[in-house]
Order: sequence, then structure tokens, then C-alpha cells
Amino acid sequence: MNAYDEASLDGMPGRPRAATPLAGRSGGWAVGLDIGGTKVLGVAVDPDGVPRHEVRTATVRGLDGVVTGAADAVERLAALAGIGVGELVGVGIGVPGVVVPGDGSVEHAVNLGIAGRVPLAAHLHDRLGGVVPVRVENDLNAAVVGAAAATDGAHGLAPDVAFLALGTGVAAGLLLDGRLRRGVRGSAGEIGHLTLVPDGLPCKCGRAGCLEQYASGSALDAAWPSTDGRPSPALVFEAAEAGDAVAVALRDRFAWAVGSAVRILVLTCDVGRVVIGGGVAAIGEPLLDVVRAALLAESRQSPFLASLDLAERVTLAPAGVPVGALGAALVGRGTYA
Ligand SMILES: [Zn+2]
Repeated sequence: MNAYDEASLDGMPGRPRAATPLAGRSGGWAVGLDIGGTKVLGVAVDPDGVPRHEVRTATVRGLDGVVTGAADAVERLAALAGIGVGELVGVGIGVPGVVVPGDGSVEHAVNLGIAGRVPLAAHLHDRLGGVVPVRVENDLNAAVVGAAAATDGAHGLAPDVAFLALGTGVAAGLLLDGRLRRGVRGSAGEIGHLTLVPDGLPCKCGRAGCLEQYASGSALDAAWPSTDGRPSPALVFEAAEAGDAVAVALRDRFAWAVGSAVRILVLTCDVGRVVIGGGVAAIGEPLLDVVRAALLAESRQSPFLASLDLAERVTLAPAGVPVGALGAALVGRGTYA
């Protein structure tokens, strides 16, 4: 049995079909891999920047497992595209962890079981026979590139976009003036550890009241543990919709916290769009509705906030588009080297 789930993306609804200015013609195919703690999602992107083939496989933790899994996925995607690995213009990888700018090394990729500082790009480059450039990027940086490309396809790309990931934690990828903002320590966008509630809930970072204790999927899971295996965020929103007072209060506090994250991103970077992604975004339009409502409520108290049109800047990551892998492929083409 093949260990991969494979799919051709041609003609699937919601997929970006048109070339974008960001994607631009590159003269060849590229592969992007979004390597997470549990799964690897890869796409092959055609010369017009459109994702055409997709593979998913389980992450094998540890350096050798990650490199072997990535190499297998790249070879599989090249085969699906009908070309050899050496014909790819580049391979990009998004990983959770600090990526050292320039040399493709990764630090603190604890979710991948990789300790210390490791030259991941060089390892994969060697494993692929030294025939294709490999670039590594932080997963949220890759995601903001993919989100920008996927949501702006037909309208030209907005150069100022934040990708707000709501999952186990809360953090953002930043595309500012058309360039990734990584920061001198790779920690730009780590807004999850801004204090939202003085003397609030304890956080794993050692402090209390951090934003991610209120705006993450983990926060909802802690407050409303799932009893049937389904994700807590979906259960909270369903219970709130059904009128459960506790769920309504929890949902509204969550919406306020996510809205606060949006407000922080707009007030610090004046991004034109905040794209909400991560596991919690699977809630879909009901999430967008309550976050926008929370932002509008704040705006009614502040002519200044009202003038910034915060609610209008929030969108959801397009459903069904693997923005992390797509962005990684665009990074792999060297657009953001
Ligand atoms: Zn914290």
C-alpha cells in the first residue's frame, strides 16, 4: 500500500487557478512541503504558480526521518508532475521552529524532534542528489506567502498581509511591503505572548495572561474539553449557537481575544489583510462573524479604531488550499531568498 495520499488539484473548487504577480512565471515546476509535528503536506506548483498535485504523509520525527520523508515527498511530487527532481527550479520547506536566515538551518524544531541547530536545507539538498536548490522557511512565513497568493490571485497581490495562526498557540507570519518580516531572532509575529489579561491564566512561557491563553484552540480545549473526539472549537461554537450560556460567554471571550490579535497586527503593521488560519479556522464563517462583531463593538467606542476598518481587514484562509505548502513552494522558487 502506498504510504501517501495523493490528489490531483486540477479543477477542484477553491483552488487558485490564475497566475499571480507574487507567483510570477518561473520557468519551471517547484515543490513545497509543509512539515508539521504530525503530518507532511506537499504540493507541486506549476510554472504559473498554480498547485497541481498534492501528497500527504505522516511526519517521522528526528532529523533522519524528516529528511527522508521530505526527500520521498519531493520525488513523489516530481513524478506526479512528470519530471525528474533535477528539473525542479526549487524546493521549499516550511517548518515549525526558528530558521536561521540565509543558510537554511533550523533551531528549536522540537515539534519535529530535532534538537539544536541543524542545516536542514543542506541535508535535503544532499539527499536529493545535489541537483535542486532547497530553501527552508518558518512555517508561518511560508503560510503568509501562500495565503497572500491564494487569496489575491485575480486581483493582484496585497503586499501587506498577516497570517494569524490559531492552533495550539497563536502567532503570525508577516508579509510587509511585499517582503517577509522575520526579525533579527526570527521571532517577529510572536504575538501570542503579549499580555492580554493582567494576572490572567498561566502560560507555558512562564508569564500569565498571554493572548494565546484566550485566542488559541488550546484555550478552548482547556475551557470546554471535547468528550466525543471532535475539536473543541467546533463544539463550543455549536453549543453557543444552541444557546448554552457558558458556551456563549466562552465564544465571545474567544472572539474578543482573536479580535485583539487582529487589532494588534493592524496597529503595529497596518497590514491590509489579516488572514485567519490554523486548526481553529476550520470553524469557518461563524468564526469570522463573531470576530468581526467583536471588532465592530470596539470600533463603536473609538472613532480612531472605527477609522481603521478593522473588521473589513479580516478574512479566513481559503478552505481546501494548502497555504503552508503553496507558500513553501513559492519560497522554494527563490522569490523570498
Ligand atoms: Zn505566554
